Amino acid sequence: MSEHLLLLIELQKDDLKTVRINSKKRELPEKLMKLEEAFQTFSSSLEDERKHLNELYKIHREKENKLKSGQDNLSKAKDRLFEVKTNKEYQAILKEIEAIETKRSDTEDEIIACLDEIDHREKALKEKEQEFKEYRIRYEADRRKIEEDIANLDAELVAAQQKIREIRKQLPESILRKYEMIKGLNNGLAVVSVWKEVCNGCHMNIPPQLYNDLQRSADLLSCPHCSRIIYWNSQGKDG
Ligand SMILES: [Zn+2]
Repeated sequence: MSEHLLLLIELQKDDLKTVRINSKKRELPEKLMKLEEAFQTFSSSLEDERKHLNELYKIHREKENKLKSGQDNLSKAKDRLFEVKTNKEYQAILKEIEAIETKRSDTEDEIIACLDEIDHREKALKEKEQEFKEYRIRYEADRRKIEEDIANLDAELVAAQQKIREIRKQLPESILRKYEMIKGLNNGLAVVSVWKEVCNGCHMNIPPQLYNDLQRSADLLSCPHCSRIIYWNSQGKDG
């Protein structure tokens, strides 16, 4: 393989690398933002659950107080039964006692329902907290990785650009022009391998004579279908 072709293969590798790095420079900060958003969403839903549970504890305390004051009212009403003078008064207090007892029974039912919900929510919260703990470890590792990648991108880009400059210095202007022109026509891919008479750029068959030349000639040859500069890949794979 000619020296120029080897340089072109290298040049293309580094050109593609800068394209990849630049697209990562756009994508990674966005990925980081999405990761942080998802974390915030999880975190605040956990906080909502805790608030809700605290509300329930408060409601439970209030109902217990209500039950207790109902109990006091009941004792007082029962005491008054002994002080009444008339049957009418007696009946009125009995009615009052009945009302207090009904109310107390309702409150008791409400307390049971409230405790059930507290129990249910406590279990759910515990599970969610465990889930969050594991999620947080993954999140922090992912975030560190992305932040490191972002920090490395600039250095990688500078290195690739430096290598491109060095390679270009070693290539004649005419070949560079040809390379740039073909690259412009083919979405950035100007140099491709050919394996078993198939061009890796357009996946079309190249004529057998050209395939033979490709294996022997030191000239720069092009695919007749896509015009890309081609080289013979004796391994059957790129790279
Ligand atoms: Zn082709």
